[in-house]
Amino acid sequence: MLKKAKVLHALVFVSVFFFTFGSYAFAYNNADNMCGTWSSPGSIDYRFITDTPSDYRTIFGTAVVGWNNTPTKINLYHDYSEKSFNLFGIYNEEGSNMGRAFLYCTIFTSKANNGTAGLNNLWFYNYSGSLNKTNLQINTALHEIGHFIGLGHSTVSPTVMWATGLYTDTVPLQDDINGVNALYP
Ligand SMILES: [Zn+2]
Repeated sequence: MLKKAKVLHALVFVSVFFFTFGSYAFAYNNADNMCGTWSSPGSIDYRFITDTPSDYRTIFGTAVVGWNNTPTKINLYHDYSEKSFNLFGIYNEEGSNMGRAFLYCTIFTSKANNGTAGLNNLWFYNYSGSLNKTNLQINTALHEIGHFIGLGHSTVSPTVMWATGLYTDTVPLQDDINGVNALYP
């Protein structure tokens, strides 16, 4: 019985802490950030998975420029070395996901040490709607790179960090910029 009560207290403590933390840190309405942040946001390197087609490299490049041009501390640059981390590229998967991203952080410091950003080539190949496909791809690349930077999903729409729906904005919007500036003040 006693043990159970302790566990309950721990859970209450964790949720209260999270709520308190969330209520002042996430003024840009972003409640599910990734595991941490990069220690040098002004020089985050990325590289392409070897077989990434040139049109997708252009799309990622456009999204990188989009983030780099925001009034934030973020600057990403293409590293041509053969290292196997911070990879951008494509994958093919059935279903409704247009892209995916991962971020890995060092425990305790919450500093990012590896990340990925990917676009689902199969989804875009099958897309036959009326929206501009290239702009959809750029928007999805902005979204996945946003996760790579450390952003979670926004609850404000439209933003590139909004999780659902199809958008064709080709640059980050104000709430996205606010989110980055909250992560990297
Ligand atoms: Zn997402």
